[in-house]
Amino acid sequence: MNGKVYLVGAGPGDPELLTVKAYRILREADVVLHDNLVNPAILELASPASQIVNVGKRCGRRDITQSEINSRMVEYARAGLAVVRLKGGDPLVFGRAGEEMEALREAEVEFEIVPGVTAAFAAAAAAGIPLTDRRLASSLVFLTGHLAAGKNHQGRSGWPALDPPDATPGDASARTIVVYMPGNDYAQMASELRTAGVAAQTPCLVVSDASSGDEEVHLATIATLPESPRLPSPKLLIVGAVAGLARDTRLKHETSDAEMVCIRS
Ligand code: SAH
Repeated sequence: MNGKVYLVGAGPGDPELLTVKAYRILREADVVLHDNLVNPAILELASPASQIVNVGKRCGRRDITQSEINSRMVEYARAGLAVVRLKGGDPLVFGRAGEEMEALREAEVEFEIVPGVTAAFAAAAAAGIPLTDRRLASSLVFLTGHLAAGKNHQGRSGWPALDPPDATPGDASARTIVVYMPGNDYAQMASELRTAGVAAQTPCLVVSDASSGDEEVHLATIATLPESPRLPSPKLLIVGAVAGLARDTRLKHETSDAEMVCIRS
């Protein structure tokens, strides 16, 4: 009899941000196939009897291809095992879950999706800002930085228009934009954002390793982003008027001795 595959979100890093359901399924798994980004402390929560396999890109000596990951999931499930495919954050956000679900459907393997806390939410919490505030932003966009670098699989570069050209920070119709995988070419990133209609004075945050003890938040504007420090990965950018609110939280964090480091340009 076929086993089952669980596409599980491991959250942004802090094991306490796992859902109760993710925790239970992890404890009961026979095999755990995980990405590089998953915190080892989370893997320790799996049953000692389970087999833990790193299928992250660049693991070991060679890259594991997406189709190898798909075949492994199918293979283990056909052997009757409970398989956890553990992904950072939420499995359905920039996580290639679409391709994996397609492979599982084709192989007629039963699967279930367990949502997780996506990095954008942990980053907003680290910075102490709302991603939407009815006075400042009425929509929220998640983007991959790969598009800015022209690296999407269709070979397209650049983003579609992100903001109306006349949008100003503080305009309630403006958007909050979260850029996952921003890379280190901040000048290119800033230029792509400008081309997409984001004003130069728009506040912007670089948030590194959100939810871990090493989380860092750097406040800039699109104009000053190119000179901002290259914080360690994983990191993302939050762009929009709400990013400017991080100023207030810095004071709060300084007096509360929280582990956040906020460097101002
Ligand atoms: N499925 C994941 C995203 C995978 S793409 C999710 O929902 O969060 C990987 C990117 O997510 C990283 O390059 C980085 O941009 C972002 N990321 C993941 N964990 C992060 C963290 N703890 N802090 C900041 N960014 C993070």
